[in-house]
Amino acid sequence: MNYPKLLLPDNSELAQLDVYLANGGFKAIERALSLERTVVIDEVKKSGLKGRGGAGFPTGLKWSFMPKVKSKPHYLCVNGDESEPGSFKDRAIIEKNPFMLIEGILIASFAMNITSAYVYIRGEYESASRLLAKALDSAYSAGYVGDGMKQKYNSDYSVDIFIVKGAGAYICGEETSQMNSIEGKRAYPRVKPPFPAASGLWNCPTTINNVETLTSVTAVLNIGSEAYSQIGAKTQPGTMLFGVSGNVAKPGVYELPTGFNLKNLIFDICGGVPNNKKIKAVIPGGSSMPPLTPDELDISLDEESLKAVNTHLGTGGVMVIDEDADLVEVTHRIAEFYHHESCGQCTPCREGTGWMVKVLKRMVNKEATLADLDLLVDIANNIEGNTICALGEAAAWPVRGFVTKFRKDFESAVSENRNFNAPNIAYGKRNTKEDLLFEN
Ligand code: SF4
Repeated sequence: MNYPKLLLPDNSELAQLDVYLANGGFKAIERALSLERTVVIDEVKKSGLKGRGGAGFPTGLKWSFMPKVKSKPHYLCVNGDESEPGSFKDRAIIEKNPFMLIEGILIASFAMNITSAYVYIRGEYESASRLLAKALDSAYSAGYVGDGMKQKYNSDYSVDIFIVKGAGAYICGEETSQMNSIEGKRAYPRVKPPFPAASGLWNCPTTINNVETLTSVTAVLNIGSEAYSQIGAKTQPGTMLFGVSGNVAKPGVYELPTGFNLKNLIFDICGGVPNNKKIKAVIPGGSSMPPLTPDELDISLDEESLKAVNTHLGTGGVMVIDEDADLVEVTHRIAEFYHHESCGQCTPCREGTGWMVKVLKRMVNKEATLADLDLLVDIANNIEGNTICALGEAAAWPVRGFVTKFRKDFESAVSENRNFNAPNIAYGKRNTKEDLLFEN
């Protein structure tokens, strides 16, 4: 069956300007410039497009938060940090279809009366940032970006696009820390409010959108909001890039309508699990999302359906884990990642992520007790909702999800190796939560 390919068509030459132009490139910005700014925002609102960076906030609504009267410069921040393990779809856009992203940046900038846009790319994406810089150079030379736009489109509007490279910290994908990073400061998330639309880059109104979101904006203006809203799930229309990794025969980035069935994605599109092994768990939206059990895989990939089974669509990074995997070790590795990436500003995240790693390490080393399972859930519950930024939730959700949905795996990791009825001389008496947390 054929599915609409709006973001990554089967044309490997699209990263060349002449090929992009021959395929209808830069027609969407032409259309946007012929409309009132408010009409462009309404068009994006009507399309139903929701952010593809993980939070799923309605894009047009976000744009409408920008002040209508411009008393200070307005900025656009393009989030290409993509440092969530399991997420690699923005890289595919930047490398394979960079002009469509550039066009989306132009449309968003025009709609919000922005004259400077910053594309923030993670440091490890060396080839992606080089390819984007090359595409940007040719778009500038041909008058599609910058001052040349005025002549090209017979318009009084123009925007400059700058590329900023991160140094490889997960937290730089958080919107306010990304802004600090662009300003040359340490990438600490800021306390909200004020929200970026009121005070963002250099304390000026700023909107931050993900790479895939902005590329989808070009698709919306190309085919129109009506047609776009008919694709995929009603509550979250459009196509989406699913990055599938782990134990599948054909891992990769697949563009599919939102609401696509997860089981079909794994078995029909990605060729199933090698050697006919069984699936043990699937993380549906990047490593910060709680997992699904094998019984939950026959599900539509949209936020509403996934929420009903206590997880989220996130970035669409589908991670498949087969029966051979040790889920305690998987959880331990995920927890270590978020502990390492915590910026340390707030206590529940700084300390809590470390405590979870400590307890999970005990499990991996077969030194845990059954009480450690409840302790893990208790720590996760106390991180969630008590931190400055969403890294707290990103750390808490997968741990709580694995422990609660796969409790038997964790119990057997404990019970195989400990005799709970016998006094444990090696580990002493552990009665309190504090004993468990602060034991070396
Ligand atoms: Fe930093 Fe974690 Fe607090 Fe976010 S939640 S500000 S990463 S300490």
